[in-house]
Amino acid sequence: MSTLPNQSELATRAKEALEKCGVSSSGRLGSHKVLSPINGEELAALKWSELDDVERAVERANKDFLVWRSTPAPIRGALVKHFGALLQEHKEDIATLISLEVGKIKSEALGEVQEMIDICDFAIGLSRQLYGRTMPSERPGHRMMETWHPLGVVGVISAFNFPTAVWSWNTAIALVCGNSVIWKPSELAPLSALASASLLDRAIHDLGAPRYISQVVMGSSEVGAALVDHHGVALISATGSTRMGREIGPRLAQRFARCLLELGGNNAAVVSESANLDLAIRGIVFAAVGTAGQRCTSMRRVIAHVDIIDELCTRLEEAYQRLPIGNPLDDNTLVGPLINGAAFALMQSAIETAKSEGGRVLSGGTRRLEDQAHSAYYVEPAIVRLDRQTNIVLRESFAPLLYVMPYETLDEAIALNNGVPQGLSSCIFTTDQSEAERFVSEVGSDCGIVNVNIGTSGAEIGGAFGGEKETGGGRESGSDSWRAYMRRATNTINFSGALPLAQGVEFTV
Ligand code: NAD
Repeated sequence: MSTLPNQSELATRAKEALEKCGVSSSGRLGSHKVLSPINGEELAALKWSELDDVERAVERANKDFLVWRSTPAPIRGALVKHFGALLQEHKEDIATLISLEVGKIKSEALGEVQEMIDICDFAIGLSRQLYGRTMPSERPGHRMMETWHPLGVVGVISAFNFPTAVWSWNTAIALVCGNSVIWKPSELAPLSALASASLLDRAIHDLGAPRYISQVVMGSSEVGAALVDHHGVALISATGSTRMGREIGPRLAQRFARCLLELGGNNAAVVSESANLDLAIRGIVFAAVGTAGQRCTSMRRVIAHVDIIDELCTRLEEAYQRLPIGNPLDDNTLVGPLINGAAFALMQSAIETAKSEGGRVLSGGTRRLEDQAHSAYYVEPAIVRLDRQTNIVLRESFAPLLYVMPYETLDEAIALNNGVPQGLSSCIFTTDQSEAERFVSEVGSDCGIVNVNIGTSGAEIGGAFGGEKETGGGRESGSDSWRAYMRRATNTINFSGALPLAQGVEFTV
């Protein structure tokens, strides 16, 4: 069992990492406590933004957008290139802050920063590839084409569990597309946000880009809501719970603003009787307990064929017994703490409900290390076996809680996979090619991410990321997600000297 570090040790590490990234503590000090889930104690106390600050930020962002939009896209790419280099230089510092305020183990925190660097690389290439199409006109002497233009101000609202990567996905792409960005990070994880934004500020300064194309406003949902309701913000990209999406979606629709929603998931693995179980166990364990089950893509459900479900459960239980749980800053830890007591209470309540619905707890669910830190919540990841998909399984429990249930036919497994309100990530473990093909086809999984022989989490930045149904329908990161940050104009150019009308319409005066 690891020993937890004390308050001053963690606060000092946070201060040092912030300073190395150019954040001076004095300018941001205030009364809102930032707690570390590692020991439940205070890391720093910050000042939240006022609504006036949001107003000012939107005004400045719109002003600087007018300059930035006319800066050639490859020059905009050069800014992102420099930002990526600064992230590389300060990878350890940002990762430390992520571990301190979110409780991610070191390797996953470093992975989050690597994801930021990767998206910068992607965006640099993209800055020379914002392609529009040309299409044949039905009229002689005419040419048709599409051109893509930046939207204006992009508001980014982010969740605690990926406190910096999701912002970078949005920001790197939004910037090369010619937008300015205002970020409202999670109130639970503002330090890594300040550090990351400070590095981008430095890149902006070094390259002489307009000062206010990147800004941060700090605070809780009211600050986010001020961005959502502001007519000067063209697109809101919001990542968080489905509850949050349900609140802001209609408000954005009301003012016809663009919206990109990345909301809750309820991700499943189908494990076929033909699966390589060694591979499946490793894939399931990483996806179910990585980041202590607090990823949007964390695996929540295993739908296992009746012929192998018993063996699978036994082997999962064995793997769970070997999990090192504790201080995420220790090199050998694989499972860090939950973000707070509310997350622990939700996990306990979900386990109780599952039991009342016929579930059997195979392992885990209890708290660890509470004698060392009363306000830190280390929990043994839990496995609950069920005979069917009960009501509690339909909800996202944002904790390391895995439901395992049986199926007999692939159609039944696909129906169970799809039979939840969310549609983010899914996978199948099988060595039967026809099963794999059916799962990824139009009659298979209805999710935005559909994998074969890997787990549900750990996406690469090259693909479009996002999900269907209550996950919100947004797509971020790779592929053609950049289009969400631009508006499309269809242009028809007439070089014929005459004025023929489309569809053969005659209108001569
Ligand atoms: P949350 O919904 O509590 O908060 C997310 C962000 O939204 C925070 O910055 C918060 O201040 C803000 N917010 C909340 N209500 C708001 C409102 N009414 N108006 C404006 N802003 C508001 O989520 P969380 O607990 O930080 O994160 C966990 C959730 O996020 C899980 O449901 C998880 O699945 C989801 N998530 C989804 C993705 C994805 O890409 N689909 C990625 C990460 C997290």
